[in-house]
Amino acid sequence: MEQMLLIDMIRLREAMAENHDLRLPEALFYPVANSNGLKTVRELAVFRFTCRKCEDAPCIAACPAEALEKDDEGIINRHTNLCISCKSCVTICPFGTMMTDFFKHHRNRDLYFNLTDTGDMNKFISACPPGSVSLTDLKESPADNIYKLNEKVLIKDYMYKTD
Ligand code: SF4
Ligand code: SF4
Repeated sequence: MEQMLLIDMIRLREAMAENHDLRLPEALFYPVANSNGLKTVRELAVFRFTCRKCEDAPCIAACPAEALEKDDEGIINRHTNLCISCKSCVTICPFGTMMTDFFKHHRNRDLYFNLTDTGDMNKFISACPPGSVSLTDLKESPADNIYKLNEKVLIKDYMYKTD
């Protein structure tokens, strides 16, 4: 059975706290038919699993570009074509959900890796902080804080639950 990519968001946050100059590699799925609004795996994971899905969503209210909205599942979606990278949402989020390096427009393209390409995926694993990303035979396991993002990616994070 094909192994899945396990991204440990807890370890990534630790690595960023240990080194404030750290530039984290980013994983994306491309090429796709329409690459407009392509999101990094890290952004998808944070809004799905880390975000507390505030009812009044101060991040949405603070956004001067009206770039944030909730989707049908109540998950925050950032319209990348509208976002002006002002980071108001990062600042106002009471739970520190978003990582401060999320919305930079002009990042080093060498830090982007295509998860639809095996070679690129292996380079992504090597480029990430030690212990943060690996290939695994594990399955989704909420008891271990491991959740399925999609058919190829598992995310390890502390998920906020209301029930
Ligand atoms: S960084 Fe983007 S999404 Fe966040 S408040 Fe600014 S414009 Fe809106
Ligand atoms: S303010 Fe933070 S925790 Fe609340 S919905 Fe926005 S990103 Fe999620």
